[in-house]
Amino acid sequence: MSDKPINKYIRCSLNGCGCRINPLIWISKKHKIIYLEIAKCGSSSIKKALDISIVKEDYINAYYHRGDLNIANLSKEVIELLSKIKSIEDITEDKLNYELSLGIERGIYCFQPYFNEIDILLEKLPDFLYVSNIRDPVVRFISCFNMFSDDNQPFRKKQRESVGQLVNAGIDNLDFFIESSLKEPNHHFWAYSTFINKIKDVNNKLFINCAEMNQKWDFIKSTLNLPNFPSSAPNIYVNRSKSSINITDLSEIQIAKIESIYKDDLITFKSLI
Ligand SMILES: [Zn+2]
Repeated sequence: MSDKPINKYIRCSLNGCGCRINPLIWISKKHKIIYLEIAKCGSSSIKKALDISIVKEDYINAYYHRGDLNIANLSKEVIELLSKIKSIEDITEDKLNYELSLGIERGIYCFQPYFNEIDILLEKLPDFLYVSNIRDPVVRFISCFNMFSDDNQPFRKKQRESVGQLVNAGIDNLDFFIESSLKEPNHHFWAYSTFINKIKDVNNKLFINCAEMNQKWDFIKSTLNLPNFPSSAPNIYVNRSKSSINITDLSEIQIAKIESIYKDDLITFKSLI
């Protein structure tokens, strides 16, 4: 796939990563909601509740916005779809009747991926509800360590291996993970503050703290005001890891190191909880 994430506020060096297709900005015009997706902060659960998933047509937008999708990483279905497009002009001249900054609607709430600048939305749609999800940056980083070092998550292990930064489970390997994460960033632990600070001044907003998602589900539900929204928080965490290092396993030095990497996220997190 393309060499860079579509979302300009993140960096990711993982081959074939979902961020090459997913712009991490979702809009439901019908329900006036814009969701800024932050990885490893409960986003899989939130997207499940919002009935958001990737569809093959999203590759058309990704193809247009990046133009360098690596065929080797695509499914047969997607290759077939893209083979109908002879050139980017076919899309821009609207032969395909396709909107490039907005993917097609999906799910019961008609969410669409948005491939353009968040500033345009803020200017054009100031009255929409802006939603994002946050998590304690240190806890989030440890969660990433657990995910990428978990033998039961072969896809994640393969992703790290492909950039030469394979990490093993166990606290002994955390220092290596910290160092290698700085060398080979990826969107799962990329700092979120620059992206979500964009919406901190809008009137109508909802920041979902991953740690409180379950107990605040009723509040989240009423704020989103969506018909058919599930009455209880999703209990299936798509990326739950079997590796189980937690913050109490870390030394003060390790915590300080992670806190210094995520100092802006810490400020943002503390200001929003
Ligand atoms: Zn990525």
